[in-house]
Amino acid sequence: MRILVSGPTGSGKTTQATLLSKYLRLPFIGVGRMLRDEAEKGTNNGLKVQIAMKKGTLVDDAVVARVVKKRVGLPDCQDGFIMDGFPRSLSQLKHFDPNYDHVFSLDISDKEAAKRLLKRGREDDTPALIKKRLEIYHRFTEPVLSWYMKKGILDKVNGEMRIEKVHQTIKERILKK
Ligand code: AMP
Repeated sequence: MRILVSGPTGSGKTTQATLLSKYLRLPFIGVGRMLRDEAEKGTNNGLKVQIAMKKGTLVDDAVVARVVKKRVGLPDCQDGFIMDGFPRSLSQLKHFDPNYDHVFSLDISDKEAAKRLLKRGREDDTPALIKKRLEIYHRFTEPVLSWYMKKGILDKVNGEMRIEKVHQTIKERILKK
């Protein structure tokens, strides 16, 4: 089973994708983490990634698509995977389509997202960068979710509930399929 957990920054998608990956015993693929690792390498691509992250913008489509495609092509992904963070735009989907069976989107208000992120305090969790990431989500990622909605594989979950409750809801929806 190939599952995407999507949602704005601060919606808890990494937390939920990790819990789901343990429950289903499928590999977790965290694109943000993979890109941060890439940035630390100091290669040409790494530099591009660093710049995008500093600006709060999306990393180049071709770079992300290549990293993701390579990862899902590894043998441990044969029976499926839980993806956190790809695609974040329709253009990325054109570069590489992971062929999801099921897509979850965690719904949360911008206000709640910003509140949570300011508490988390990662390097890119400044008010200006949070605002930028939320804008990009609405502009580029929401159209991807509309596309999955039309395909009939989108499942919206209230991301403002407690972590365990969100996890429970996701599990129930998977079992219903
Ligand atoms: P995250 O850890 O998911 O919040 O991602 C952190 C940062 O990584 C984002 O702000 C983007 O700069 C970058 N990023 C993550 N996923 C993607 C993606 N699919 N496409 C482009 N950039 C991404």
